[in-house]
Amino acid sequence: MTAPILGTTRVSCPTCGREQQASLVQSINTHKNPSAKDRLLAGELNLLVCDCGRRTQLAATLLFYDPDSDYFCQVCPGGQAAMDQAAQAFLKAGAAGTQRIVPSLNALVEKVKLLDEGLEDWAIEMAKVLLLAATEEQDLDRVLLFDRVDRTTRVIHWMLFDSRGSEAQRVASPLAAYDKLAARAHGRPSPTELQIDRAWGLHAVRTMITGAN
Ligand SMILES: [Zn+2]
Repeated sequence: MTAPILGTTRVSCPTCGREQQASLVQSINTHKNPSAKDRLLAGELNLLVCDCGRRTQLAATLLFYDPDSDYFCQVCPGGQAAMDQAAQAFLKAGAAGTQRIVPSLNALVEKVKLLDEGLEDWAIEMAKVLLLAATEEQDLDRVLLFDRVDRTTRVIHWMLFDSRGSEAQRVASPLAAYDKLAARAHGRPSPTELQIDRAWGLHAVRTMITGAN
């Protein structure tokens, strides 16, 4: 079995300051490294666990590839410049299939959960905007993450964070509302629409409401 591409980095623990060597997984192929995918979903990938007990998520680029769905997703910490560079690399590689770029490992975890559930990320981003617009605060910038879908009760479960992004509460919404969005074939972006995020969702919902699309 081929090992995932590994990098190493020296990092200082933010709590006790001890400097240590940490290994980084920078590439996951779900056929070749199923255990790396499991660790990703468990939130244990690229995590520095210090002797003092502090757990620190390490920021690193990572390419996720699922051959079954022909799905690529690149994690690009480091702002828009890093994202643009990744976009160029995708163009050059000329890969077929769905291609996405996300800013963090958490964002990748959400994409992979959606992929595993057979849910469309673009319709999920639109559902998030509509869900936030229906809350009392109507704060469309709030962090809202897909948690899981229950197909028996036909409910999507989410984690809604407070405005500081630190505390989360569980919220649920009907799966039917998502289905309606996903059925809008003309709302579907191209497989190479790299950034399907909140900004994309806001734009898509505005376009839908004004009837321009
Ligand atoms: Zn420490």
